[in-house]
Amino acid sequence: MDLTALDAIDVHVHVEQDGRGCLALDRELLDASAAYFKADQDRTPTLERIAEHYRARRTAAVVFTVDATAATGHPALSSEEIADAAAEHADVLVPFGSVDPHAGRAAVDRARRLVTRHGVRGFKFHPSLQGFDPNDVRFYPLYEVLAEEGVPALFHTGQTGIGAGLPGGRGIKLRHSNPMLLDDVAADFPELTIVMAHPSVPWQDEAISIATHKANVYIDLSGWSPRYFPPQLVRATNTLLREKVLFGSDFPVITPERWLADFAKLDIKDEVRSLVLKENAVRVLGLAGGRG
Ligand SMILES: [Zn+2]
Repeated sequence: MDLTALDAIDVHVHVEQDGRGCLALDRELLDASAAYFKADQDRTPTLERIAEHYRARRTAAVVFTVDATAATGHPALSSEEIADAAAEHADVLVPFGSVDPHAGRAAVDRARRLVTRHGVRGFKFHPSLQGFDPNDVRFYPLYEVLAEEGVPALFHTGQTGIGAGLPGGRGIKLRHSNPMLLDDVAADFPELTIVMAHPSVPWQDEAISIATHKANVYIDLSGWSPRYFPPQLVRATNTLLREKVLFGSDFPVITPERWLADFAKLDIKDEVRSLVLKENAVRVLGLAGGRG
């Protein structure tokens, strides 16, 4: 990946459809999420469309799906296919994998293979959608592999648009995405880089405390327009956490162009902007080393 050809790196982009037209979520969840985000653009982009979209904007994208097969009953998109296809767009795409933590030993072995055979550069977890407490020691063998392979783990935190407005939120529990659960994981795996995705509403102060306290924990700013960021998050980004906060859009529910336009209007110091938009991600993703 030629970093000089890039102005920004978006660390949070969802592949929602594969080449056969299979979708990452069932229709009810997709429609509820699109309504929650008032998304008027295509809610189910393929990897190829994502690559075109980002290439045209001189921006790299970390792409992934979420394997929540056990919790939702909906078959997941293949992270192997995503990673293999992303390799054809290596100028702009950085593939992350997803395994279902409930798959136990198979998930651990698969995570290892995704890194060693498919070139996956990190993993995405969505504790609410996948229905698991990230600090449950049953899932620790999974983190051991990620720490050994030196790839980051990105966890959804806080409120979610998935299930929003549906009876019982379709059974999706928000408490799994309390960032405090990740404080345990970060403490027990100091070698593992953890990214807490999104302003972690309603636990923003917790997220800021964890990222301040743990050298191995970062925050991505995806899923919200910068216009609505909690003020303490903006303050922390300008000061204590300037090297720990990352640009993410949560495409397709928010486009990078909308996010970037709103970020330009946010009260962020000039010298912090390039850290957030690109430099911090280069470090977290290990793109400057030989592996890119
Ligand atoms: Zn996400």
